[in-house]
Amino acid sequence: MARKFFVGGNFKMNGSVSSIKDIVNNLNKANLDPSVEVVVSPSAIHLVLVRDSLRPEIGVAAQNVYDKPNGAFTGELSVSQLLDSKVNWAILGHSERRTILKEADELVASKTKYATENGVSVIWCCGESLEERESGKTIEVVSKQLEALKAKVSDWSKIVIAYEPIWAIGTGKVATTEQAQEVHKAIREWLKANVSDKVADETRILYGGSVNEKNCAELGKQADIDGFLVGGASLKPAFVDIINSSK
Ligand code: PEP
Repeated sequence: MARKFFVGGNFKMNGSVSSIKDIVNNLNKANLDPSVEVVVSPSAIHLVLVRDSLRPEIGVAAQNVYDKPNGAFTGELSVSQLLDSKVNWAILGHSERRTILKEADELVASKTKYATENGVSVIWCCGESLEERESGKTIEVVSKQLEALKAKVSDWSKIVIAYEPIWAIGTGKVATTEQAQEVHKAIREWLKANVSDKVADETRILYGGSVNEKNCAELGKQADIDGFLVGGASLKPAFVDIINSSK
């Protein structure tokens, strides 16, 4: 099955009302490759602004969502709040949340289960630190993160996997095409061996980590790279070139 190319933009904790409106206007007037699925992820405070003003074929993702229906969870966002505001996606397990906010594999898996079972699709992130890569543990680390996800999730159809080596995020140090393809292939083989041939064949696996308009075309040509999760460059006009890079 041909997997639809996917480009996500993670704005992280960036932007003002004015700068976010500029990004939306730029995307609204751009000539975008219709064969690419695009999802942008602004800060929580800008979700409604973006959803209400962005062209409808571009999806909008929250940068987090909780695994309880509602209630006394100060600072969290619920799945029903997202859906009520027409936000159908969430990024979960980003390394900044795993490392800075100490989110454990199990919590990420639980939030992914709750979101996908209740109508929110998830860009689920995984990846190794520099120390783990240098000690040859990349596949082991990513497999452990996948194991925790598999222990909770049964429907994989609403999950897009983003492989994001931590050492490449926001550092300008992009993984080589060979390094990225090697891990993407290993993730697909893991899905085949531990979930099913169908899930391995259909699940999009994105690469994230210092993707820009110059390095994206080569990465996107790799057999198991089905798109990108873009941080810093998604705030710039060049995001359009990244979206259109697989043309
Ligand atoms: C990210 O935050 O998901 C990311 C990949 O960031 P950057 O593109 O800035 O490295």
